Amino acid sequence: MIHETKTQQAAVQRRLRSALAGVRGAIRLQAPLKEYTSFRIGGPADVVVEPADVDDVAHLIRQTVRHKLPLFVLGGTNLLVRDKGIRGVVVSLANLRAIKEEPGAVLYAEGGVGMPTLIGHAIRRSLAGLEWAAGIPGTVAGCVVMNAGTRLGEMKDSVKAIRMALPNGTVMDYPAESIEFGYRRASLPRGIVVGVWLQLKSGLRADIEKTVKDYLRYRRDTQPLSLPSAGCVFKNPQNDSAGRVVEAAGLKGVSVGDAVVSTKHANFIVNQGQATANDVLSLIRKVRTQVARKTGIKLELELKLVGQA
Ligand SMILES: Cc1cc2nc3c(=O)[nH]c(=O)nc-3n(C[C@H](O)[C@H](O)[C@H](O)COP(=O)(O)OP(=O)(O)OC[C@H]3O[C@@H](n4cnc5c(N)ncnc54)[C@H](O)[C@@H]3O)c2cc1C
Repeated sequence: MIHETKTQQAAVQRRLRSALAGVRGAIRLQAPLKEYTSFRIGGPADVVVEPADVDDVAHLIRQTVRHKLPLFVLGGTNLLVRDKGIRGVVVSLANLRAIKEEPGAVLYAEGGVGMPTLIGHAIRRSLAGLEWAAGIPGTVAGCVVMNAGTRLGEMKDSVKAIRMALPNGTVMDYPAESIEFGYRRASLPRGIVVGVWLQLKSGLRADIEKTVKDYLRYRRDTQPLSLPSAGCVFKNPQNDSAGRVVEAAGLKGVSVGDAVVSTKHANFIVNQGQATANDVLSLIRKVRTQVARKTGIKLELELKLVGQA
């Protein structure tokens, strides 16, 4: 059995080497995913690739299909990666960071641009429309995929079109009207979002900056931002807030290992140091069970659980 596993592993390594031929970006084998996630949790990926540019992404996705290797793209801020990590190729768009301005208050951002960077750019160009997203740490692509949102707005309010690298290695653009957005989801073709057009509007720089600063202060006051987390753990139940429900069940401060339900915001689980994915999962089970017992509400996960147990 052990022999078979080793043989299988060797076959995967061979397929990986073939699939990665011709990739121009950085390649890191056996990369600890805790270094790529805001939770600072996660076992190793067989390989993390940071493609050099959009063409490199397209080449990589076609190669992984050809060599039948699983592929996962991350920004890393809404993920709980299990302790045995992710098999196959993990892609980070860390090198896709260009922002271009187009006529009519439109910004084009490559997929790896972080929301904080994009908001900073919009402020400098006096472009309004993204203030609601101040404090969301994900990439612009990840925010489209998740239709990230706050009580002030959602990604779908600003997306004009997206650019995707498809499994056959082509790059295609899709208008926002062809995408169905829902609560923390978007129906997209299979592939990798490599760019996003955002329709913003001209505004007054001082006003935009003030709204962003006020919102960041509000977040600092109400969210545990000094400890690693993946943001909100649960989706809000209809007409209620998951944080309120968890707090009302008396679960603030409850812990498993170094994973703790934040005492500042009950819908955050924070990593106080060496929390594992198993610790977080046990804590999630505990919270769900007790909330269901006390209120009848079945909390659904907002964060994405990925990788091998
Ligand atoms: C402190 C903190 C505060 C947060 N506040 C908010 C908030 O107010 N509102 C909110 O909605 N979220 C919030 N989040 C969660 C998170 O930032 C968002 O969900 C964000 O949209 C995730 O982006 P990401 O790039 O990190 O994607 P990831 O979390 O890595 O991935 C999310 C999903 O998108 C997929 N994906 C990522 N990039 C691509 C791509 N280029 N192409 C195709 N698929 C892709 C992944 O495979 C995965 O399925 C917060 C997180 C933290 C840590």
